[in-house]
Amino acid sequence: MAALKNSSKVFTLASGDKIPAIGLGTWQSSKSQTAKAVQHAISVGYRYIDTAYGYGNETEVGEGVRASGVPREQLWITTKLDNPWHKRVAEGLDASLENLGTSYVDLYLMHWPSSVLPDDPKKVYDDWNFVDTWREMQKLLGTGKVRNIGVSNFGITNLEKLLNDPSCQIRPAVNQIELHPNNPSPKLVAYCRDKNIHCTGYSCLGSTDSPLYEDPTLQAIAQSRGKTPQQVLLLWGIQNGWDVIPKSVTPERIASNLDIDGWELTEDEIKKLNSLPGRTKVCKDDWLPEKVFFGDDE
Ligand code: NAP
Repeated sequence: MAALKNSSKVFTLASGDKIPAIGLGTWQSSKSQTAKAVQHAISVGYRYIDTAYGYGNETEVGEGVRASGVPREQLWITTKLDNPWHKRVAEGLDASLENLGTSYVDLYLMHWPSSVLPDDPKKVYDDWNFVDTWREMQKLLGTGKVRNIGVSNFGITNLEKLLNDPSCQIRPAVNQIELHPNNPSPKLVAYCRDKNIHCTGYSCLGSTDSPLYEDPTLQAIAQSRGKTPQQVLLLWGIQNGWDVIPKSVTPERIASNLDIDGWELTEDEIKKLNSLPGRTKVCKDDWLPEKVFFGDDE
């Protein structure tokens, strides 16, 4: 048990590439905090950073990566195509690569299944949707600029639409979705597993001001194990089979979130966490011009 190296565990994608089981999230990391957070994370052992064009901090992520001194090929970088760029996939990727100061990303995700107009993001195109976007994303694999392509915020309904379209020749390697015990999405996770689509769990701690920390079951497990509730939540995700990307700009939290070696949750503890009664969804679709979640994930 003592040798359990959760912090350096990896999951193998359909391509054969190995994505680390834990990375640093950067949504809501301000420009002034991001480079330091990324550099610190890498210095304490993280090898995976999750960012997005839409977070406005890719440039600072790139700065932190370079300041770490760790060679690029030893790091996993995920970034995402922003909604107003769906008709400009190749340009969107180039913009991200330029921001990051790197020649390739390990994983490029369609951030949301919503193709909005660049000059009016409250509207969607009437002659383009995420299936068209995916057709264009598949072409990126031959360019050497992406090692894997995937999607994010896809539920079963939209995955079915994508996978059943004849233009879908390459399945998404990853679906990055909200996963924590108050949004466990077991049907969606099982669906992805069945299609050999790996899941990344975002808002894995329940995001800013997480209500999860008040949960008595989580508190009891953390207390009995002498671990933080955050460490318990991260292992819950990893042991359920998805990678986790906790965000923090606080040096001690960045380090303690990676301090997860040498133990694991029991089946009974996982079962208890799988069935917490509370439900919260951090990232809804009410800010988008179209519905993307259809309540079919649980
Ligand atoms: P999260 O990682 O679940 O939680 C982040 C919050 O928890 C921050 O307020 C952070 O505070 C705090 N925190 C972190 N470690 C802690 C610890 N050990 N003790 C106490 N508090 C702690 O939330 P998230 O940022 O929503 O999700 C994680 C990442 O997933 C994002 O950063 C982003 O990279 C990705 N994401 C993707 C999507 C998508 O649409 N694909 C959507 C949401 C998120 P401090 O920073 O102040 O320390």
